[in-house]
Amino acid sequence: MSQPEVAFLGGEFCPVADARISIRSRALNYGLGCFEGIRGYWNSNDRELYVFRPEEHFQRLQDSCKTLHLQLPYSVDDLVRMTIELCRRNSHREDIYIRPIVFNNSEALSPMLTEESNEFAMYTLPLQDYLDTSKGLRVCVSSWRRVSDNMIPARAKPTGAYLNSALARYEAEANGYDEAILLTQSGYVSEASAEHVFLVRDGGLITPGAQEDNLEGITRRTILEIAPAELGREAVARRINRTELYVADEAFLCGTGAQIAPVVEIDCRPVGDGKIGPVTRELQELYFNVIRANVPKYSHWCRPVYSEK
Ligand code: PMP
Repeated sequence: MSQPEVAFLGGEFCPVADARISIRSRALNYGLGCFEGIRGYWNSNDRELYVFRPEEHFQRLQDSCKTLHLQLPYSVDDLVRMTIELCRRNSHREDIYIRPIVFNNSEALSPMLTEESNEFAMYTLPLQDYLDTSKGLRVCVSSWRRVSDNMIPARAKPTGAYLNSALARYEAEANGYDEAILLTQSGYVSEASAEHVFLVRDGGLITPGAQEDNLEGITRRTILEIAPAELGREAVARRINRTELYVADEAFLCGTGAQIAPVVEIDCRPVGDGKIGPVTRELQELYFNVIRANVPKYSHWCRPVYSEK
């Protein structure tokens, strides 16, 4: 694994060691920022690194910025070009994670979003599994509720909202679980700390929509498209009650980091027969092929880093 040497900050590529911000930055003191998480996959047959759906991620970053009054002086095309350039400069030839972040870098006191002291930064990391995708996770319903959209914009990706995720994840791990599912204030299933939730019932897929105070997800969108088209499975976004978690045939978490991570137990109840289910397995196999640009129909989602002009 090669440790990346180049990052982006202050309008230019720079050594990772020089990409630093002040302890007075509002981003640190008040969590005033938003970010993205993008994956790049190394395809050893093609000898190519493919960045998965970067346009959608940067469109979502722009949407987050608009919602949070943060200025981002780059177009989606600019940002995709900068990402490809950063991957090239770091000569990545492995699976990676790409983290663009926009933040208020004013050193003034008070949590204000109005000043034009915004900063854009981006860095890369080698990354394999974020959650275990092979063993089947044990998850709990958190005692923490998901931030509601009228408190901190839930369909965006604000840095500050991740305190909510971190509290839920900490509690879950302290109690011996792998991950937590958060409910909305009204008690419906929202999402996990950094993943969306899918259930399988009667062979079809169900997931809560973004109306349940969760991120507008790119992996969710991908699954809702490929499951019906390639596997002939019905896949719908709809409201899910807590107890529907307990009677599902299968369950999995999904996200850019998590990919497709099967769940075998929820709140001390086995999901189905307590083993990874066949629908989850077939979807996982399809997804892993799609993201590595092995399915020509979806290869337009995978932007090549080295052969791109
Ligand atoms: N929910 C939250 C809170 C997340 O941080 C993430 C990871 N970005 C997800 C869901 C999954 O979203 P996506 O598939 O777009 O990565």
